[in-house]
Amino acid sequence: MTRTALVTGGTRGIGAAICLELKAAGYTVVANYAGNEEAAKSFTAETGISAVKWDVGDYQSCVDGIAAAEAKAGAPFDILVNNAGITRDGMFHKMTPEHWNEVIRIDLTSMFNMTRPVIDGMRERGFGRIINISSINGQKGQMGQVNYSAAKAGVIGFTKALAQETARKGITVNCIAPGYINTEMVAAVPANVLQSIIAGIPVNRLGEASEIGGLVTYLASDAAGFMTGSVLTINGGQYMA
Ligand code: NDP
Repeated sequence: MTRTALVTGGTRGIGAAICLELKAAGYTVVANYAGNEEAAKSFTAETGISAVKWDVGDYQSCVDGIAAAEAKAGAPFDILVNNAGITRDGMFHKMTPEHWNEVIRIDLTSMFNMTRPVIDGMRERGFGRIINISSINGQKGQMGQVNYSAAKAGVIGFTKALAQETARKGITVNCIAPGYINTEMVAAVPANVLQSIIAGIPVNRLGEASEIGGLVTYLASDAAGFMTGSVLTINGGQYMA
């Protein structure tokens, strides 16, 4: 039977590339998104992949949204890719409680909100793949991103703890820590800052979203069954964790 995959934040950027790679590998894929209707509409029109809107930062919305996404897929999800994320950058001494809370809620609490509703089914079926998108800045810390670095470091701890709990149930839990990838999130970085970031990347370029998609597809596969609790660093050599 065809395996099913749910990708949060799947209609744009890295998430869209993950959806495409998984679809090409034969999975039935459903994407989640937050509210950019135009992007979701053109994503579905171009790829034929269904998209369902809900806020991954809200638990009940995730319970309801996953049920709606399962109805589109026609089966419970075998693979969950926790990809949705936001930034609200600023130096810590100017950071507002709102910017702290928003990033923790969407980038970290979403891990609980999305994974908790699917874990019982995966345990019962004896198979699951949970793939969480962290960041290089969760590994090394980044000035101006105390909130984001804290949330993304939390994703790593979440991954390692849950991997231990679920290993005997056939469920692997892994984490990918991308460096700077060519998406709208990075396009928001001022040009001079981006130039200096690229200068610090040994391969001398940004990563492509498809490169993350390929890695997710490997982690989702049967071939990756012995890999769990891992943090896969993919950053052009910028930080060798
Ligand atoms: P984008 O900003 O391009 O896309 C973000 C996606 O997440 C969109 O589909 C968006 O939906 C969705 N989203 C945002 N908030 C929510 C929410 N509350 N509920 C549901 N969906 C939501 O991001 P990227 O593709 O660049 O990043 C994807 C992931 O990779 C993030 O977790 C990011 O932190 C991480 N990452 C990115 C790097 C990069 O260089 N780009 C580097 C390292 C990590 P909508 O379209 O409706 O707004």
